[in-house]
Formats: sequence, structure tokens, C-alpha cells
Amino acid sequence: MMFQTETETLPREELEALQLRRLQNLCARIYANVPFYQRKFDEIGITPADVKSLADIKLLPFTEKQDMRNNYPYGLFAVPKENIVRLHASSGTTGRATVVGYTQRDINNWADCMARSYASVGLNQKDVLHIAYGYGLFTGGLGAHYGAERLGAVAIPMSGGSTKRQVQLMKDFGATGLCCTPSYALYLHEAAKEIGIDIKELPLRVGVFGAEPWTEAMRHDIEEKLGIKAYNIYGLSEVMGPGVAIECTEGQHGTMHIQEDQFFIETINPITGEQVPHGEEGELVITTLTKEGIPLLRYRTRDMTSINTTPCSCGRTFSRINRLTGRSDDMLIIRGVNVYPSQIEGIILEEAGTSPHYQIIVTRDGVLDNVEVQVEISEEHFDDTIKGLQKRESSIQKTIKEFLGVSTKVRLVEPQSIPRSEGKAVRVIDNRPK
Ligand code: ADP
Ligand code: ZN
Repeated sequence: MMFQTETETLPREELEALQLRRLQNLCARIYANVPFYQRKFDEIGITPADVKSLADIKLLPFTEKQDMRNNYPYGLFAVPKENIVRLHASSGTTGRATVVGYTQRDINNWADCMARSYASVGLNQKDVLHIAYGYGLFTGGLGAHYGAERLGAVAIPMSGGSTKRQVQLMKDFGATGLCCTPSYALYLHEAAKEIGIDIKELPLRVGVFGAEPWTEAMRHDIEEKLGIKAYNIYGLSEVMGPGVAIECTEGQHGTMHIQEDQFFIETINPITGEQVPHGEEGELVITTLTKEGIPLLRYRTRDMTSINTTPCSCGRTFSRINRLTGRSDDMLIIRGVNVYPSQIEGIILEEAGTSPHYQIIVTRDGVLDNVEVQVEISEEHFDDTIKGLQKRESSIQKTIKEFLGVSTKVRLVEPQSIPRSEGKAVRVIDNRPK
């Protein structure tokens, strides 16, 4: 089922023609209305009229998170304030918040993208969606909410917090869809167990999980524990919010269709800024083709992925991005080796007897980086002998060394001892001196 079949199945040629018209229009708009972009274009010696093909995008300037911070709060807005109807701000996971503004049309487009996303994972107007993304400045809650209403489903604006009560209401209201971070989905499962509710017995059938990196192993774990199909959704506040990309029910797991009528995507080498060929991993760069409030040209997301242009059996013509490995800023450099927390997660979850709750603690001892990986042991293995636990620890340690090339100290900790998060999970605690 598609929400906007005609758009979602546009033949590539027409889609690309639409993207080009929108890109040209975007350049004209930001050149005329945003002094930051006018300056950037002038510095390079290019005008909006020089954009003759989609390939010409590589001549245009990038926008970085720092540019948004430098122009805090309204400097990059392209329309007068009377045309803005809503503000959001990034949760500031990495540094000072960035502010984004939406016109009514932006809000409508966003609701469409989210409604398409729900339809893409098999949800429809008969569904009851329990929305546990935070409501507020964070885009997750309201984004998921407007999309649910646009789809015609029932939107339950739960937001975060009161986790046990949430489970009770999921049961009472007969939720069939769940929107939250993947780590919170597991937390809900634990809370349910504590109050004697088995989520598997509830009518819940589909989860729409995103806002943080997660692995295929984590998906299996969630699907198994909650008795649902779990899908990956991607988005970021700078560009819109959730619904920029979503998996479909047909495609190979891990690949997400980008809403390409709204966004033009590239992947680049994060060091040189050169485009990398499709299929190769690089930093995802997104251009907002229709956004009016705060349009962004070649926004560097710092998220690492690759673009997949092979046709999908669902019939959508939008290309896909592969599962995100993590943000380039989350990448840990441990004694010169690059490691993403999600790679460690993948290994932990392969190991029997551990749970998907973990934290990576980095310290510096003289000139050496030390990494301790704390992983909760699962309830069933909690009473293992000390010897048994040590065996597990060294087996995980060995696998991490073998696959990622870094030495770590793995420590199994008691169930429930790693703090649960209601939003994005905190995976890394970096205590190295800055
Ligand atoms: P903040 O930047 O403050 O965390 P956002 O909510 O805008 O605020 O976060 C967007 C970021 O969250 C993305 O750039 C990406 O790093 C991460 N993210 C969102 N969805 C996913 C996903 N499905 N998989 C991996 N990372 C994701
Ligand atoms: Zn598909």
C-alpha cells in the first residue's frame, strides 16, 4: 500500500526532471533571500542560472551544522517570520541546538512524508499508533503525530516517560503500531514484564523505530521479544524530522527509500568533499528540494551510508540508503582504529547470554586509550558461575579484536544496571581529556 502512489512510483526520468526544476527553484530562492547563501555563491563565482543539470550540484556549496549554529537562531530562514508556523530544535546530542522553522506547506509536506512512511511499512487508517517519541522541540513526537493523522490512523500522543503506564495504555487502547527509539522499545518490553503484561499477546504488530543507530541483530531481538515487525525510519531535524527515509515491506532489510521528490541525496568522502559513486560508503549529503522555512543546500548530515539504486520490488522508484553505521561524530578513534558503537553492538548481540543494553566507556591512560565495554548479562544467564561469565567476557573481547581490530575490556554487568533512556540511548561515555 502506498499513500501517494503517483509520486512514489514516478518513472526515474520524470522524477529527475522534477528534482532539477526544484533544485533550480531552490537555488534562486536561497540566493535571493538568504545572505549566507548569496555570499557562498558569490565566493565560488556561481549563480543559480548556472545550475543546468542535477550533476551540477557538485559545483554548489555545502551547508554544515556549524553554519546553522553561526546563524542561530533565524539567520538561515528564507521567508519572513509571519510565514513560519512552527519551530523545532535538534536535541543537541552533539553541541549547541540548531533551530529550524516550518511554513504551513513545510508541515504539510512533512505530514505527507510520514504518512507515506507508515503506509510503506504496512500501516493504514485502521491502525492505532502509540507514539512514544518525545513531544516538544525534538521533531520525533509531532512529526510522527501529524503523519499518523494524515494517514487517518489513530494517533496516541504518549511522548516519553511513565514507562509502565505506557504499557498499560498500549494494552487498554489496543495499539497496533509503536513509534519510538529502538532502545525504548526494549525498555517498554522490560517494563511490561515487570507489571505482568506480555507485549506479544497484545494486538501490536508493527514498530517504526529510528532516531538512533541500531543493528540487524537488535531488530531480531526486538521482533522476537515484542512479537512484531520492526522497521527502520530515518530523519533529522535540520532537514525535516522523521520520515526522510523509511524501509518498505518488500525491500531487503536495512535499505530505506528516500523521499526523493522532496530530497536530493549524495554521498561524499567526508575528508575531500568529493562525491563517491553509488554503492560506496560515504557521508550522506541532503538537499531539501521543497522546504520553504529553512531550505538547506547540500547539508552534510555526518551520517555514514551508501546509496542503493537497484529497483525495489515494492514498485517505489525512490532510491534507497543502506542502514546507517552511525554519525561520523560518534565514530571512536581508538589507538588509531575507527570504530562505531553499532559495530560493537553487532558483536555483543551475536553472543548468547547477553542483552542489548551496553555502554562503551573510553578513558586515557597516559597516551593510551582504554575501552571498557559494559554489557548486561541476560536474566537467564545471571546465575552463571564466575568462570562461565569470564569465559563469555573473553569470548566477546576476542571477537571484537578479531573483527574490529581494537583491544577492549569487556565486562558483564548485572541485568538492569545500565541506565535506560526514554529517547536516544547513550552508548558512549568518553572520559578522555579534550
Ligand atoms: P540531534 O542531532 O540533536 O540528535 P535529531 O533528532 O535531528 O537531533 O537527530 C538526527 C540524527 O539521528 C541523524 O542525523 C542520525 O545521526 C540519527 N538517526 C536518526 N534516525 C536514524 C536511524 N534510523 N538510524 C541511525 N541513525 C539515525
Ligand atoms: Zn521498496
